[in-house]
Amino acid sequence: RTPLASLSDDDLAAFLTEQQQAYAQLQATGLKLDLTRGKPSSAQLDLSDELLKLPTTTKDRAGTDVRNYGGLEGLQELREIFAELLGVEPAQVVAGGNSSLTMMHTVLVDFLLFGGVDSPRPWSQEETVRFVCPVPGYDRHFALLEELGIEMVNVDMRDDGPDMDAVEALVRDDPSVKGIWIVPTYANPNGAVVSQEVAARLASMPTAAPDFTIFWDNAYAFHHLTEDETKSADIISLCTAGGHPNRPVVFASTSKVTYAGAGVAVLAASVDNVAWFLRHLGKASIGPDKVNHLRHVEFFRSAEGLRQHMQKHREILAPKFAAVDEALRTGLAGLDIAEWSHPRGGYFVNLDVLDGTASRVVQLAKEAGIALTPAGSSFPYGRDPRDRNIRLAPTMPVLDDVRTAMAGVATCVALAAAERLIS
Ligand code: PLP
Repeated sequence: RTPLASLSDDDLAAFLTEQQQAYAQLQATGLKLDLTRGKPSSAQLDLSDELLKLPTTTKDRAGTDVRNYGGLEGLQELREIFAELLGVEPAQVVAGGNSSLTMMHTVLVDFLLFGGVDSPRPWSQEETVRFVCPVPGYDRHFALLEELGIEMVNVDMRDDGPDMDAVEALVRDDPSVKGIWIVPTYANPNGAVVSQEVAARLASMPTAAPDFTIFWDNAYAFHHLTEDETKSADIISLCTAGGHPNRPVVFASTSKVTYAGAGVAVLAASVDNVAWFLRHLGKASIGPDKVNHLRHVEFFRSAEGLRQHMQKHREILAPKFAAVDEALRTGLAGLDIAEWSHPRGGYFVNLDVLDGTASRVVQLAKEAGIALTPAGSSFPYGRDPRDRNIRLAPTMPVLDDVRTAMAGVATCVALAAAERLIS
């Protein structure tokens, strides 16, 4: 194929007509498909249904009754499993409720109300609090900051993590820059994996704020789509070695391992950070759902058990991601109007279309019965300065629907690009 931009006016007009016809056909098929939801499919949820019969006992290893109050830091056996998975000591892990996002919210609110271990004062007493936000990124991270009145500054998210020159320049002299979001492994949405080198720079960079915090959201740490089980950089050890032991707070959960609505979330950090977190949590809770903790311990048995369980997810998910790539290649390869990620794990494919056409693509898809995540969703305040980014979530629909929907998306991308180049 010839790049669309180098076609003659006549050829471009012919291409537009072709795409308009393809689009009319697409509309005539009356689809009703949804690629917006980064959720596990019911086939994936079924993989964990043994949970519904667990736990088989009411006592933990130490003989404590898990049905009762207590154990704010979470069940020791579960902390041990996650300590191994995250490469830390069990004392550095807190096992909580079903949502890591809730833990992120709690940590942010604690920083605002009380300040952290290294804070001169609560963040709410600062004139301005800013966060570095690698983009594209996770919409809920940005919505959370927006609600709490924390300003967001974009930096580019690349294949190996955030643009570190930009990050270092932002944090060096401005004490109002208090934190950064990082999804280190198979990032939402571009699938990036933060390299050792980038992690080491994040860990050692000088920051004007003494309590600068890395919110290391490892939501997809174990969610490999290939045999290459990428290991996340060990941000806690790197920060400790860099003289900033309290800089990172690590989050993870089993939302996309067992049940998205009834899994277990964990937080990992320095022992000082853990003590700080538990001190404040202790005013809000007398203890977590240890029955669910024990249920998960019996289900996984070990860190290796969790890793093996993830292979079953991979068998369901890998063909869906392959279908996305195939449909985009078939429809768009060579036209030079779109680029997309080839994630080796996680839940999303990042599609960058011709500048200025993402909103149009989403609208065209909607009018053809294909729901896509609103353009701009992966940016703070929902504003994609280039209007080119679309997040695709192929996990929830069945494989055939992913194929059909993605062929339709390719048509919408081509049509929007032709319209744009002609106008
Ligand atoms: N972090 C990221 C990067 C996510 O993509 C998601 C869900 O899509 C979450 C966190 C939510 O995690 P949880 O279910 O543990 O609250």
